Amino acid sequence: MEIISRKEARAAGPGRRYYFTGKPCNRGLVARRLVSDKRCQCEAHRAYRNTRAKQVARDKAEEKRRREHPGHSAAMNRSKHNRIQPEVCV
Ligand SMILES: [Zn+2]
Repeated sequence: MEIISRKEARAAGPGRRYYFTGKPCNRGLVARRLVSDKRCQCEAHRAYRNTRAKQVARDKAEEKRRREHPGHSAAMNRSKHNRIQPEVCV
């Protein structure tokens, strides 16, 4: 990969989204970076972003569920499921 500074990439216009310094990122990998926010595109950072994005999506869904169904938490469903059924009086 050719080395192109962020400045040069920026000057090259909006079509040039990445730059490459040739230096390792804080995860010790060498990869190109996004011109827009300097984000590293290496495997480690990509994997981290993916898991983080998934977690955020899960949290959002959980929050929505709680809002729409107050009092219906997963813990409550579990306790309901595990509750010993009272004996029915005849
Ligand atoms: Zn990285």
